[in-house]
Amino acid sequence: MAHGLNPAQADAVDTLAGPLLVLAGAGTGKTRVVTFRIANLIRHGTDPNRILAVTFTNKAAGEMKDRVGELLGHKGKKKRRGEKRPEPTISTFHAHCVRVLRRHATALGYPAKFSIYDRSDQESLARAILRELRLPGTALKPGDLLGIISNWKNASVHPEQAPMVASTDKEHLAAAGYRRYQEGLKCRGAMDFDDLLLQTEVLFDQHPEIREIEAGSFDHVLVDEYQDTNGSQYRITKHLAGAHRNLCVVGDDDQSIYAWRGADVTHILNFKNDWPDAKIVCLEANYRSCGSILEMANRLIQFNSQRHDKELRPSRPDGVRPRIAQHKDETKESQSVVGEIKHLIDNEHIQPRDIAILFRTNEQPRLFETELRKADVPYVMLGSQSFFDRREVRDMVAYLKWVDQPDDEISLLRVINTPARGLSPKSVKTLMEHAVKEGVPIWQVMQRPDVVSQLSPAAQRGVGDLQGLLHDVNQRAKNESLTAAMETLITRTSYADEINRLYDEPEDRQNRLASLGEVTNALSAFEDGKDDADLTGFLADIALSGREMGNEKDKLAMQNAVWLLTLHAAKGLEFPVVYMVGMEEGLLPHSRSVKSGRDEDIAEERRLCYVGITRAQEKLTLSMALTRRKWGKPRPTIPSQFLYEVTGQAQNPNKFRKQRRQVGR
Ligand code: ATP
Ligand code: MG
Repeated sequence: MAHGLNPAQADAVDTLAGPLLVLAGAGTGKTRVVTFRIANLIRHGTDPNRILAVTFTNKAAGEMKDRVGELLGHKGKKKRRGEKRPEPTISTFHAHCVRVLRRHATALGYPAKFSIYDRSDQESLARAILRELRLPGTALKPGDLLGIISNWKNASVHPEQAPMVASTDKEHLAAAGYRRYQEGLKCRGAMDFDDLLLQTEVLFDQHPEIREIEAGSFDHVLVDEYQDTNGSQYRITKHLAGAHRNLCVVGDDDQSIYAWRGADVTHILNFKNDWPDAKIVCLEANYRSCGSILEMANRLIQFNSQRHDKELRPSRPDGVRPRIAQHKDETKESQSVVGEIKHLIDNEHIQPRDIAILFRTNEQPRLFETELRKADVPYVMLGSQSFFDRREVRDMVAYLKWVDQPDDEISLLRVINTPARGLSPKSVKTLMEHAVKEGVPIWQVMQRPDVVSQLSPAAQRGVGDLQGLLHDVNQRAKNESLTAAMETLITRTSYADEINRLYDEPEDRQNRLASLGEVTNALSAFEDGKDDADLTGFLADIALSGREMGNEKDKLAMQNAVWLLTLHAAKGLEFPVVYMVGMEEGLLPHSRSVKSGRDEDIAEERRLCYVGITRAQEKLTLSMALTRRKWGKPRPTIPSQFLYEVTGQAQNPNKFRKQRRQVGR
């Protein structure tokens, strides 16, 4: 087998059939095994089209595609126009499920062009439902309802089961809301993010013939980061691999960090129960980090009692010892970290893209962003949705969603009178009443002359305007391109005038007009070189990438910028220089876990810390502030317990137990 693999890795890569588990620590080359194995399968004659590889993020999927291409010698060889090179399917679970559902959603009563609701669409729907249920705002907030529903969906609890599993008052209220929420989605032809997994699972359960078709399109399934699969993902994987049994999963129980989203580490630990003939390969040599970084990681993770005992063995020299830095307050922390980064870039020839700042909570990056901007250091933040959160972008996306799926009421209501077209709240209310009475989406009643004639003349013109717009935009999309359709959309809505009306500052206006341009760019990039690009595909793309990183951000990253990432988003990645900031009780471990005090909650935070440490290749700094502002007042902080653990200053309760176990063996 190709060089660049150690014997254990080569063993996994050369295992071409049957169930295979690679359970190994961070940086030991698990992802490399998946990549090389895909290339090896192809070299041994497997049709690339018959390989499915599932990764955790779009970024990981993109990198894996590039890497496989390189291994197969495609790099630099441009495809000829129209040439179709067979390629393995490499994507996230969610993206794969979207493809499956596009083909079969009608079997579940959804339109094939179902829209995918993002957080703010979900919130609008949740608010409408709470109003319908006449629940006073305080009893259950839209966010609470959505949180509870999401937990249920992640645990594959369906609306009719919810009343049985509800235990708190809030959950009982939410159970009623869940049923309506799901009906609401369905009648709007929409799914939320969790549905993508859950509905795929339902589809496979209820329609064996569809399951067979989908499972039958692959001979090999490979899953990276298997420790973080939730119940639906686990069952979907089983469905897909059940017949051919060529299932390769790789993961690390010490990096299981998504329990809060329903991930269950027992899926990987019990792999052998599901697939008794599975071959198990263990990797020990870590190729990523210098020895002294691994020493810290090993020391830390031993404080978790429930784990497969394994140690990371360095294959690189000890390197620079990781540093712990204490700062007076959070401002000093960010200034000092950014100051050092600036120094590394200016004087030590380190590239911005080789540096990452990792944090636990969404509030932390703000100060770092400010300092990075001041210092004129380019940065890119993952896990943030800022571009697609801008009002004008949201409006345009809502228009596109509605054009694609006119029954998508949430999107239509967002833009029905934006920019103003005579459809006052009163006329919208009249239309809504008809829609609710007849149980059909509002767009359908807006096509009926008997209903529309009851509206004011201005509102009637508004309806006509929307009908014309829908027709024109669709025509241009069909006959020309999505980019052309977007042009029509911008001119027909006079959206630029709206921006000039809303914003006074010239700079603000320009920025906002530029965002319209960015949406057009995104459409154009999406259809570039594709024969089958359609609006549905584009919208799915941004819905899926908005969760982690949009094309915009990837573009920035290519421009060479410092990475600002949550620990969750950093999984699977590596950087020569890493700063883990805010190493304080209440941040890492998170205040929720500190409050609950439960061992398993702290253990998950410890795994997050372990994920962070093991991202570093050469230089690692753990920093904390001695005081941090809360509600405007500086308060003393407590150093994270993990700082004591990594430095060996804390007593390890498991050490004694482990020694005994070893003696007993
Ligand atoms: P994580 O648990 O963080 O996802 P991983 O186990 O997937 O890590 P990889 O990302 O595949 O590890 O590999 C870590 C680094 O080590 C990569 O830079 C990879 O190229 C390198 N590497 C892996 N195996 C070898 C090898 N046999 N020889 C040289 N470098 C290797
Ligand atoms: Mg990996």
